[in-house]
Amino acid sequence: MSRYVLAFDAGTTSERAILFDHEGKIVSLAQKEIRQYYPQPGWVEHDPMELWSTQLGVAVEAMSKAGVSAEDIASIGITNQRETTIVWDKESGLPVYNAIVWQCRRTTALCEELAPQKEKIREKTGLVLDPYFSATKLKWILENVEGAKERAEKGELLFGTVESWLIWKLTKGRVHVTDYSNASRTMLYNIRELKWDEEICEMLGIPPVMLPQVVSNSEVYGETDPAYLGGAIKIAGAAGDQQAALFGQKCFKAGEIKNTYGTGCFLLMNTGEQAIASKSGLVSTIAWGLDGRVTYALEGSVFMGGALIQWLRDELGLLGSAAESEELAQKVPDTEGCYIVPAFTGLGAPYWKPEAKGMIMGLTRGVGRYHIIRAALDAIAYQVNDIVEAMARDAGSDLTVLKVDGGASSNAYLCRAQADYSHVQVQRPECVETTALGAAFLAGLATGFWKDLSEIEKCGGGGVHFDPSMDSALRDARIKGWKEAVAMLG
Ligand code: ADP
Repeated sequence: MSRYVLAFDAGTTSERAILFDHEGKIVSLAQKEIRQYYPQPGWVEHDPMELWSTQLGVAVEAMSKAGVSAEDIASIGITNQRETTIVWDKESGLPVYNAIVWQCRRTTALCEELAPQKEKIREKTGLVLDPYFSATKLKWILENVEGAKERAEKGELLFGTVESWLIWKLTKGRVHVTDYSNASRTMLYNIRELKWDEEICEMLGIPPVMLPQVVSNSEVYGETDPAYLGGAIKIAGAAGDQQAALFGQKCFKAGEIKNTYGTGCFLLMNTGEQAIASKSGLVSTIAWGLDGRVTYALEGSVFMGGALIQWLRDELGLLGSAAESEELAQKVPDTEGCYIVPAFTGLGAPYWKPEAKGMIMGLTRGVGRYHIIRAALDAIAYQVNDIVEAMARDAGSDLTVLKVDGGASSNAYLCRAQADYSHVQVQRPECVETTALGAAFLAGLATGFWKDLSEIEKCGGGGVHFDPSMDSALRDARIKGWKEAVAMLG
């Protein structure tokens, strides 16, 4: 009986491999940063060969650190930075261009041209027309790499997001698949009919022959070529990072919601078998497909989350470390009416003010360093609360629990502020590697390492929770102040 599941976490800044045991505990972890390329302002790229070799390297390292061989591993699950677009040559296995990363804005003009189609695109894909998603990045590669379009039409080139690329590489080109969650972020996939959308593909000039087969999030896709990890290991689960975190947080039921406090914040709510069309500017997406059933999610993101704390540390010099913000914010009882609206790169859902700039308001002579730090943590919580409120509106029910993870969730002041402003219980699990854990769960389910969801529910345990304790009049007044501050952006 194999003792472990191996998760690959192919993130934006680094790639990791984590071995989990049957209790969902980390047995070993290896991590390596990946190089970022910025060929022009607003452009972001990765080298796909580096993504592949780094991922393989950390996997070998994690296994050797724990003295684990291929036979000890039940299966591999992959989670990845979503939307990042790779096109490669089917014969040589070489990419025709660098991976265009989700953050890359090079297709802004292309999206403006497509604007008349935005309602149709939204209906079919659940997404807001934006350069963020894969479709226009893929179109850009086909139109800007010499001969790519013709070669793609002849079936010589393949497209995939990062998990698709890694699976193809690991199986030495035998398996070209993507999972539902990643497919739903391409802006080419019809999330209601569950198929690549011919009309959108045609609109963008994308030959369907280059698209991967869409598979469930938990099934055996293939085996690793024995040359790589000292034996053939089943690759049996995949999901985009945010969906994997939703799964890793065990948000299995409709209405359950998680927030990841990283650089930005990503909230996802399980909406069950219903793809809810948001009235508040959230996107609808596929959470996962499992046992023949597809589960949908609503998603909203905050652009400046933990990055605001980074800014206080690196640009204003108010903090020695991000962690210090927790103690310093509590040196004062409140912000003295000071609010920070961190619209450094515009404001996302539910405001959608792409041109807005950030603002600090309510300054009086009494406001000092600690108030600003406190206002920054509050700003993260207010922004998350705006999305929690939007989700509750769309779902038609109040939320009672918010599960949290990500770097800034280690800040207890922030967790308490969130509980107060959103009037929910904030639950933080002991293992905050929920993204990798989600991928591990998916892969373990497919191979019988975990029998079913109820067995997974028993994994982990521990963790802490934060209950709301703020007086409701005070809460209402603070939130009103925040909304007034946002309204001042115009
Ligand atoms: P990502 O995965 O997006 O790189 P992480 O989940 O590693 O991000 O979280 C890092 C972010 O969280 C940074 O922006 C950092 O400023 C912030 N952060 C980390 N620790 C704390 C803390 N204790 N309090 C507040 N913010 C924090």
